Amino acid sequence: MGNKQLRVVVIGAGMAGILAGIKLKEDGYDNVCIYEKANRIGGTWRDNTYPGLTCDTPSHHYTYTFERNPDWSRYLPPGSEIQAYFERAVEKYNVGELIRFNCEVKEAAFRGSQWHLKLSDGSSDLADIVIAATGVLHHPSTPNIPGMDDFEGAIFHTARWDHSVPLDGKRVGVIGMGSTGVQIISALVGRAENVSHFVRNPQWIMPVENGYYSEAQRAGFRSDPALLEAEMNVEEYNANVERYTHALTQPTSDGAQFMRQACFDNLEQSVTDPQLREQLRPDHEPLCKRLIFSPDYYQAIQKPGATLVREDIECIEKSGIRTKDGALHELDVIAVATGFKTDQFMRSIKMTGRNGLDLESLWEKKPVAYMAINMPDFPNFFMLNGPNGPVGNFSLVDIAEKQWHYIAQLLDKIRNDDCTEVCVTRAAMEQFDAERTAAAKTTIWYTGGCQSWYLDAEGIPASWPWNYQRFVEEMETPRWDAYDLIQESSPANEETEPA
Ligand code: NAP
Repeated sequence: MGNKQLRVVVIGAGMAGILAGIKLKEDGYDNVCIYEKANRIGGTWRDNTYPGLTCDTPSHHYTYTFERNPDWSRYLPPGSEIQAYFERAVEKYNVGELIRFNCEVKEAAFRGSQWHLKLSDGSSDLADIVIAATGVLHHPSTPNIPGMDDFEGAIFHTARWDHSVPLDGKRVGVIGMGSTGVQIISALVGRAENVSHFVRNPQWIMPVENGYYSEAQRAGFRSDPALLEAEMNVEEYNANVERYTHALTQPTSDGAQFMRQACFDNLEQSVTDPQLREQLRPDHEPLCKRLIFSPDYYQAIQKPGATLVREDIECIEKSGIRTKDGALHELDVIAVATGFKTDQFMRSIKMTGRNGLDLESLWEKKPVAYMAINMPDFPNFFMLNGPNGPVGNFSLVDIAEKQWHYIAQLLDKIRNDDCTEVCVTRAAMEQFDAERTAAAKTTIWYTGGCQSWYLDAEGIPASWPWNYQRFVEEMETPRWDAYDLIQESSPANEETEPA
């Protein structure tokens, strides 16, 4: 362990920011602050509380490797249990003492080998290292449907669910058929008087079982970690992730064919009415959009009290949604499940790197980052779950841990006084992005004939376009020749008071 005292700032106290806090403590960093703009930890799992909220990654894999949870109630974890899990982790690892709540980082500028931060409460901070853990699916995307303000019932985005609004016995409309919309429909059918699902483009659904862990099983996991490890079967899980990412990147492979067929069979076998089946049949290849894992959507949408609406929305009126065929669907509640602005990351922080280069210029066309972690001219700045990283039907906790392993090695260079600044070279960034873009054009996200949030403004898939194994290998050790390790003289301390 090196000796240099470093001020480390983490932005965001969600899954990745908490991880950073725990690891920084463990590695002996004792001048750390996590700025969190909200008044609670949790990120996605704090913001999303909609009925049916579930993570589609197996519970025991949606955990930190160092903090297993024997008490998950189901194979797929409910959102409330995930939030509670992260709250327990914060308490157990004393991360709370690092967090400053209700404090948003508004500006970050790199000058004199340090990051000068301006905060929403008017104070400032000076950091040697900044780690952005600001999440991917954080900024709700709300469509501009004419008449939205005229609706006399309750209308809200699913990431801002209004729990004061009654649902039982009400007429609820849900706009959007991503993972969110599908989970809400399954949860509300049978509870609301009627649930109308407004679907512009249906998506493919992979069947998945979501069984309960019995009390006896959980007691077993608590008393014998070997039972938990056996349940997790890490090797099998990793092999599945590898098969899945291989299928994305090799659309003609056996694995891709297997997944495609599972989706086809699910639709064919689950939906009995041929007309409804055709209305639910997507016009693109399975895997082109993020696969939806659901044990019960097709069953729910066929129940009395559920209505699939495939007509496009014309407008919203005071009593409901009018579709282009002229029909008025009268509603008490409208849940807008239209996803997120996925090109935001740490925006809207005003970031300025070396030589006055600002983030908006660097990301003028699209967000880019070397290995999803670094950007040229932004020294000592690191991202967890940044642009171009792996996203999909697998655990982002695992992805963040592997990214942390990589980042920790870069931090060591600064702490060991090998340098004062770690910065990826522009050449490495450009080469990485050229390779990434070429690979992205061979993925099913590009070839599968659909629009999705995986595509950037230029229509190129923005996610990690290679298989899981390549990610694992890249995260083992940085390619050092991609980095400038710069030794600067003492920084000019213009604003030396840490907040
Ligand atoms: P999403 O996948 O982006 O889906 C948005 C839906 O809204 C799409 O069906 C889209 O239709 C529709 N839509 C958008 N604008 C519309 C408009 N103006 N009129 C009508 N429909 C419109 O969003 P999401 O379901 O919130 O999911 C986002 C991501 O969050 C997921 O892909 C996943 O990564 C994550 N998530 C994960 C879980 C989990 O279980 N782990 C659960 C929920 C969410 P088009 O297809 O026609 O554009």
